[in-house]
Amino acid sequence: MNKKQLVGSLKSQGFSDKIVSSFEKMDRERFIPIDLKKYAYEDVALEIGQGQTISQPYTIAFMLELLELGDDGNFAQKDNLISNFSSVAHRDAPTTHPKFGNQIIPTPDSSQNRLPDNLKILEVGSGSGYVLALLNGIVNGKIYGVERLSVLVEKSRETLRNLKNVEVFEGDGSKGLEKFAPFDRVLVSASADKVPEKLIKQLKVGGILVIPVKESIFQIRKTKNGLVERKFPGFVFVPLVEKRNV
Ligand code: SAH
Repeated sequence: MNKKQLVGSLKSQGFSDKIVSSFEKMDRERFIPIDLKKYAYEDVALEIGQGQTISQPYTIAFMLELLELGDDGNFAQKDNLISNFSSVAHRDAPTTHPKFGNQIIPTPDSSQNRLPDNLKILEVGSGSGYVLALLNGIVNGKIYGVERLSVLVEKSRETLRNLKNVEVFEGDGSKGLEKFAPFDRVLVSASADKVPEKLIKQLKVGGILVIPVKESIFQIRKTKNGLVERKFPGFVFVPLVEKRNV
C-alpha cells in the first residue's frame, strides 16, 4: 500500500475525519528505519529498533478514536462507529481480531464529556514519536511523551523537533508525568499487567485513559462518580516495563 491507499482504508473502516487526515498529514517513513521504508504504509506493525515496534495504523487509529478527541463529544455516533469495526475484515492484521462489537458497555451521560480547549495529553511509551505526531495533528494543546529507552527518546526528539507543542521525556511512564499532571487524556502504547494507579490519579475528572492491559484495550473514563470502563479484546502490544520500587 501507499499512503493514499492506507488513508483510504482507514476512512472506509469508519474512522473519523480528524484522525484520518492526521494520518494523511504525517509521513510514517520518518519514524522507521530506512530499510523498512517500503513497508511504511502497510497496515502492519513495524520495528523501530531496540526490540520495539510501532503499532499497525489500524490499532493506532482505534486507540486514537477511543480517546474521543472530536469537537462534539457525541458518544452515540462514536459507539455506532466502534460497533461497526467489528464487522470489518482486516487484511495484514495478524495481531488484531476485532470481535468486540457486542461487548460495548453503554457510555453514561455524555453531557459531562465535551472536549475542553487546550488539551493536555500524555502518551506513555512514545517510542519513535509517530503517535505523538498524529496527536499533534488532531488536537490543539500540549502533548507529552514518556519513553524509557534513551536511544528512542533522542531519536524521536530529533524527528519531532519542529512540533512546538510536543515534548518527550525519558523515564518510566507507568508513573505518569507528575510535573505536568493532571491530563485530559492519557494513552498508553505498551501493554500493562494492570492499570498503573498513578495514571488514574494524574487524569482529570472527565478525562479518558486508553490502555492495553494484557491483550485487551481498555478505555477508562474518570467521572465524578468513579471510573467507567470499556474493554476491547484481541490486540497485541510490546510490554510496559515498570521499574520496581525496591
Ligand atoms: N507509540 C510508539 C510505539 C510504541 S512501542 C510509536 O509511535 O512509535 C512501546 C514503547 O513503550 C516502546 O518504545 C517501549 O520502550 C516503551 N515502554 C515500555 N515500557 C515503558 C515504560 N514503563 N515507560 C515508558 N516507556 C515504556
